[in-house]
Amino acid sequence: MALLELDGVAVHYGRIQALSDVSVTVEAGEIVALIGANGAGKTTTMRAISGLLPLSAGRVVFEDEDITRMRADLRVRRGICQAPEGRGVFPGLTVLENLDMGAYSRKDRRTAAYREDLDHVFELFPRLAERRNQAGGTLSGGEQQMVAIGRALMARPRVLLLDEPSMGLAPQIIQQIFRIIRDINADRGTTVLLVEQNASQALALAHRAYVLETGRVVQHGTGRQLLDDPAVRNAYLGVA
Ligand code: ATP
Repeated sequence: MALLELDGVAVHYGRIQALSDVSVTVEAGEIVALIGANGAGKTTTMRAISGLLPLSAGRVVFEDEDITRMRADLRVRRGICQAPEGRGVFPGLTVLENLDMGAYSRKDRRTAAYREDLDHVFELFPRLAERRNQAGGTLSGGEQQMVAIGRALMARPRVLLLDEPSMGLAPQIIQQIFRIIRDINADRGTTVLLVEQNASQALALAHRAYVLETGRVVQHGTGRQLLDDPAVRNAYLGVA
């Protein structure tokens, strides 16, 4: 049984069809990447999973339960947690307060389990531990991305959805973010679904990946298979 499954999903924005017959499976413990050009439908796919957009066809199944019509906030409670594109760090709150916001749906705040998760986030991101009392709005882009991921982790996700975690970051910071995603997956077996324009690094990181083109899945396989696929290399990796 897959942890998360999109089955024949279609999404429309008014009369514009953004996704057609998209089927994606994510097994527990995997890192799965969605790659594709601008406008291919990657963000739309994530929003369909988090419940921010209604489907016009198909189903979303999580842990064997059809959640196609479940409210977005209830999906978060089930463990489907997104660190959004554009980061969404609260500028006036400190790092610690921002991380705390991620735990809002938990009943065990201020308990040992909560503190353990906070320690885990600070282990993954020592930079945030040093800056725990600094205002979110004064952090660098890379640090804000760390807060966004840390905040999603504070909800103890069953599946962590990351939309373009490398966007707008310097190459060295991108390396760091990708390494941390690998650690998040390796340390606790957290399942990760990742949207990336940075195809080569995403494919190197992911166990499996799907290629989206104009709202359809045109290719899928292991990260390695796609890295070696001539059509993928030509279209997305800038090499023939
Ligand atoms: P990018 O990498 O540029 O963010 P993407 O692969 O995430 O692209 P989506 O944002 O999912 O692509 O967009 C898929 C298609 O749906 C695009 O053609 C886009 O113009 C269209 N679209 C997205 N949001 C809306 C909206 N609110 N109203 C109308 N069309 C939309």
